[in-house]
Amino acid sequence: MPTAIKSVKQSFVSSPELLEMMETFKRMVNDCIRIGLRNDASTMKRLSKLSYSQLARYNIVSYYKLHAISKAAGILANRKQSIKRGYQTKTPYLKKGILVSCYGFKIADQILRVPIGNRQYFDIPLNRYANKILFDSVVRVRSFTLTASSTVSICYSKEVGEVECDTISGADRNLANLTVGNERGGVQYNLSQSVDIVENTRSIVRSFKRNDVRIRKKIAGKYGQRRQNRINQLLHHVSKQVVAKAKQEKTAIAFEKLTCIRRLYEKGNHHGRNYRSRLNGWSFAEIKRQIEYKAQWEGVPVIQLSVTQTRGTSKVCPQCGKRIQEAHYKDVIHERQLWCSKCLKWMDRDVVAAMNIARKGGEVFHRSKGDASEAMKGNPTTPVILRVDASKLARGLSLKLTEPALAK
Ligand SMILES: [Zn+2]
Repeated sequence: MPTAIKSVKQSFVSSPELLEMMETFKRMVNDCIRIGLRNDASTMKRLSKLSYSQLARYNIVSYYKLHAISKAAGILANRKQSIKRGYQTKTPYLKKGILVSCYGFKIADQILRVPIGNRQYFDIPLNRYANKILFDSVVRVRSFTLTASSTVSICYSKEVGEVECDTISGADRNLANLTVGNERGGVQYNLSQSVDIVENTRSIVRSFKRNDVRIRKKIAGKYGQRRQNRINQLLHHVSKQVVAKAKQEKTAIAFEKLTCIRRLYEKGNHHGRNYRSRLNGWSFAEIKRQIEYKAQWEGVPVIQLSVTQTRGTSKVCPQCGKRIQEAHYKDVIHERQLWCSKCLKWMDRDVVAAMNIARKGGEVFHRSKGDASEAMKGNPTTPVILRVDASKLARGLSLKLTEPALAK
């Protein structure tokens, strides 16, 4: 059975000794990074051979040394990947102290006991939420991470059986909504609030007029963090709902690959400032990340389609396969709609994309399972797509607040 991993975070009260250990851990990681860069080594195996003896001078429990090497290997591997993709990279280093281990710790009596050497422990009381999660009998606690900013994150896992799915839903990610569905129907989650949050933050940051780079950076950082937290919160409600629905209806979820979005909207591509800021505030990767890990936890299969597999998902009619036309830009009634001249009707472009992704996902899914005959064909009926406002989900209202979107 495949293993799914999650983590739970909480704050704790640190001690000078613990902070010192985090600092040591950071120094060890940075030493390993230097060694790795000098020898062009980024695998755990080579890096441990090269650097373990160098870490002898640090007075810390030896499994923290192993984790420092592993952390450095991770950082170096990421850097290697970025270079491979053609991104510019700076020399990496760990900026803040952390402490990671999957050995030596204990959880007993609602306390996480972090080993600090000489058979001594630093005790961190766990809060009610963490306890509730970690004391589930199917869950196995794997590791902990402490940070200098006094948060502890505990990683846990469980074995999940995959949900047997007979349908596939396509997930179409847009700036202001997420549409998940197939020809039987689906849901469109309104995310326009996330666009507002981005806009709002931007105007707040802009209203600070002090012409001092350091202050500006600080303000932008603070509001940027707040913005991210608010948006992620909104997306959590949506992703939870999407996965719950998929599990209940036994539907796998297919994603198209969105590549180079950030690069598409960088400076100098002849887009306006406002447009650029709006699109660069788009959390297209975050919503997918959330759905993926939640789906994995629930055993719902997620299908990742490649760029070639989803080419033209927004250009062909999902029902007859004919190329469809966009509405004229002056045609406000049919904004964001597409016209099929064979089926003689207007369709919502997000619904079209979701249906096409679902169909492609179905082909890929059934091919991987070995039955090509199941490849779905177009259905003559128009699906009913329910509309849900994500900000209302956040206020605890569920899918009841719906209205058919394609009644026309
Ligand atoms: Zn058609």
